Amino acid sequence: MLDAAFFVRWMAAAATVIDREADRLTELDSPIGDADHGRNMQRGFTAVRKMLEAEPPATPGAVLVAAGRQLISSVGGASGPLYGTLLRRAGKALGEAPQVSVAELRTGLGAGVDAVAQLGGSAPGDKTMLDALVPGVAALETSFAAAAEAAGEGALATVPMQARKGRASYLGERSIGHQDPGATSSALLFATLAEVAA
Ligand code: ADP
Ligand code: MG
Repeated sequence: MLDAAFFVRWMAAAATVIDREADRLTELDSPIGDADHGRNMQRGFTAVRKMLEAEPPATPGAVLVAAGRQLISSVGGASGPLYGTLLRRAGKALGEAPQVSVAELRTGLGAGVDAVAQLGGSAPGDKTMLDALVPGVAALETSFAAAAEAAGEGALATVPMQARKGRASYLGERSIGHQDPGATSSALLFATLAEVAA
């Protein structure tokens, strides 16, 4: 079972990994975006970590809802509302239980991913974060490690795709051949989850 402290550790570890990978995320956002994804994610997750350290919520659901709110209020780019919605909706699905199972987390994140697709008007294959999130959540059925691997493969699979949503879609065919920055940061979140769970 996973408790609130586990989710706080996940968010804190995500902030560390995103700090480390921020330059790479921004580089990926240069050819097919506006070169701010690393900075956006860094700003958002640093704020999340500070908030959770200052006042750690008592339940897994409350941790994710608070983290999602913080992302929405601190990130200006498209990724802030999208990731904020992912975590907030997942947190709401977890309810007020003091501990949740991996199966419940998978169901919660599934609800979060559905909310991202609805907000973004996007679907897998559009070359967005969904291309890592959807396979990542599905593979949680097997294990955290399998989810990390599936999300990583999903991010790599965005390279040959033509973007149909977000800034990258303005480039049309010229978006082909580049890895999506948001799918890459989503894969990092799953990799961090696997690390924290190990
Ligand atoms: P912005 O595009 O506003 O500069 P970021 O650079 O922080 O925001 O994030 C870009 C990422 O957001 C993209 O790589 C993509 O994965 C994701 N994204 C953008 N639009 C959508 C959408 N409509 N649905 C899902 N994900 C999206
Ligand atoms: Mg950008």
